[in-house]
Amino acid sequence: MEGAELHKPIKFIKGVGEKLSILLAKKDIRTVRDALYFFPRAYEDRRQLSSIKDLKPADHICAVGRIRRAHPVFFSRSRRRAFEVILEDPDHPLSTLKLTWFREPYQKNLLREGHYLFVSGSAQIFRGQLSMTHPEMEVLGKDAEEVSSRGIVPVYSETEGLYQKTLRKILKTCVLGHSAELVDPLPSFIRDRYGWPALPDAIRALHLPSDSVDLQHLQSSKSPERARLIYEECFMFALSLAQRKRRWADAAGLSFPRSEKFWPLFKENLPFQFTPAQKRVLSEILRDMMSPSSMHRLIQGDVGSGKTVIAAAAALIALEAGYQVALMAPTELLVEQHARNFERWFRGLSIPFVSLTGSMKASLRKEALKRIREESPAMVLGTHALFEADVVYRRLGLIIVDEQHRFGVRQRARLVEKGENPDLLVMTATPIPRTLALTVYGDLDVSVIDELPPGRKPITTRVYLDRERPQMIESLRRELSQGRQAYYILPLIDDSESLELKSIESHLPEITKALSEFKIETLHGRLKAEEKARVLESFRKGEIHVLVSTTVVEVGVDVPNATVMVVEHAERFGLSQLHQLRGRVGRGQDQSHCFLMASHLGTPEILRRLKTMEKTQDGFKLAEVDLEMRGPGELLGTRQAGLPVFRMVELPRDLKLLQQAKADAAELIAQDSELKEYPLLKAYLQEQIKASHLN
Ligand code: ADP
Ligand code: MG
Repeated sequence: MEGAELHKPIKFIKGVGEKLSILLAKKDIRTVRDALYFFPRAYEDRRQLSSIKDLKPADHICAVGRIRRAHPVFFSRSRRRAFEVILEDPDHPLSTLKLTWFREPYQKNLLREGHYLFVSGSAQIFRGQLSMTHPEMEVLGKDAEEVSSRGIVPVYSETEGLYQKTLRKILKTCVLGHSAELVDPLPSFIRDRYGWPALPDAIRALHLPSDSVDLQHLQSSKSPERARLIYEECFMFALSLAQRKRRWADAAGLSFPRSEKFWPLFKENLPFQFTPAQKRVLSEILRDMMSPSSMHRLIQGDVGSGKTVIAAAAALIALEAGYQVALMAPTELLVEQHARNFERWFRGLSIPFVSLTGSMKASLRKEALKRIREESPAMVLGTHALFEADVVYRRLGLIIVDEQHRFGVRQRARLVEKGENPDLLVMTATPIPRTLALTVYGDLDVSVIDELPPGRKPITTRVYLDRERPQMIESLRRELSQGRQAYYILPLIDDSESLELKSIESHLPEITKALSEFKIETLHGRLKAEEKARVLESFRKGEIHVLVSTTVVEVGVDVPNATVMVVEHAERFGLSQLHQLRGRVGRGQDQSHCFLMASHLGTPEILRRLKTMEKTQDGFKLAEVDLEMRGPGELLGTRQAGLPVFRMVELPRDLKLLQQAKADAAELIAQDSELKEYPLLKAYLQEQIKASHLN
């Protein structure tokens, strides 16, 4: 077993104590072991320390100087505040280096005149003066010799009150004193497979690199030391998913009988036939639902591929067996729309419907809760409210989550706890590249609807620049005159958030003027729920021609006569999001259009990215472009996306390691699903689950 020393609170380390341990906790360092896994965010090359006199402009310089002046400055022309330090060469006081911060340097109070300061970063000549902005620094005090380390120095992520010098000292003590006690959690057959360095060596190499090391190599994710640690994180993550999946498969779930009564009536109510892709996915779902282990399945399908009706078909099976079905959607608009569709498709089946949303009046909510507690079967629809603590289900058989990318692995697990191993079906229209798929729903089985219902024409998409606005308006008007309707999306509600972007408030007069003969109304998140519902209903009925809206219409709204989607400031959105917006049109028989207005084009790159929208309707392809250019957080909407929080793993960079780890984890679980042979791994995993990823 691993040494107890490693699990000792960090405050027992020499030089730490109570006060520092509180600051360290902010960096999630609570034990010695945590410290060993707190890796440098960068390195600094201090093998060559220059004197200020000899400095030349360069991308990377480092030097020690004495603070001559440290003071705030104000540039009256640009009305900007800044903070400036003049550093002088102690041996040649005429040689100086100017340091500028455009926000307060957080160690401002330590920048005292006469004290020494170590700085590094890039230096330029500005107005004849050698200058640096926002340099990395280390405050040395009265003694120049106090530079904490020379050679290659690790740079850690700091926090208010806890700076490099201290961090380096603590980390060094931990690494020198305790890294040898680490026991490698990776099974030996995996270690041998990759031939990686031993864990203590890898940890040491990252914290205390030797002077002869190739810095670039050390920083690259390809160095064996780093790759090993990245892999370890991947492996723990993959293992926890694999184990969870295994447990689900082993646990007794519900086994629903085939639908006898409801199915023919349901089919009669549908105004269309299922596509072959829908049939295939449905049969996968039915197989899961009838099998005795519980279902954990994801339906992935592009916007408009017809996921909702598949969800309804699954619901029907559980309802006929006398169970409750809970369908959760991300917005109240969508809840209402689903309710309307389901009611239509379930006509004549006398299935009770219950709605539960956040904005409900207390009395209605109470009534809904009572019905959920008592009535079964029941079709329950709602937002997050469905899974609040006080909602008690009588007999929950199936949970359906629409647009699942907004929910994390952990939240999903919480939903399932509301029933006794109910089946779970999640639907997403955000085509998640394979890369991320593994991290966001590595624990689910996946069904893909890879075909749109027949008769859909590709949506004509065009990017317009600001000066081409009149042409865009003309095209829009032409469509409207033929009786079609349009969505007009603006990024903001009013000008309080930003003056540079068009908002509904600022731009509505212009739209109204340009399209004066048409009926225009607005929709956004600040409207009351009833008002939103009224506007949308009126748009659905064709009483409104142009719906000026924020992205609240992004998910799921379905109005077939709407054939134009205008998006202002398209440059602000990810392609996946634009694709979602575009998916609001093209739902009927008529040719649809998407007009993307690009107003603030920063770089040619942005225009090129937008132009991809003209070329492809393939959501997966667009998501790949997003991932490439904007990273996973942007693509999925950061935290709330339910992406695991990794320390070292970066996607898509480390995809290969993650895939290898996934295969290795599956292999291990197949051999020893409870990890009986690997007590250390098991303990480690439990701690990890508690601490990080799966939040
Ligand atoms: P999404 O997959 O984006 O959630 P929806 O479920 O909202 O898509 O379906 C989009 C539209 O296509 C809806 O109007 C739905 O009734 C319709 N639809 C679904 N399946 C078919 C089908 N097989 N044939 C024709 N129309 C269909
Ligand atoms: Mg949908």
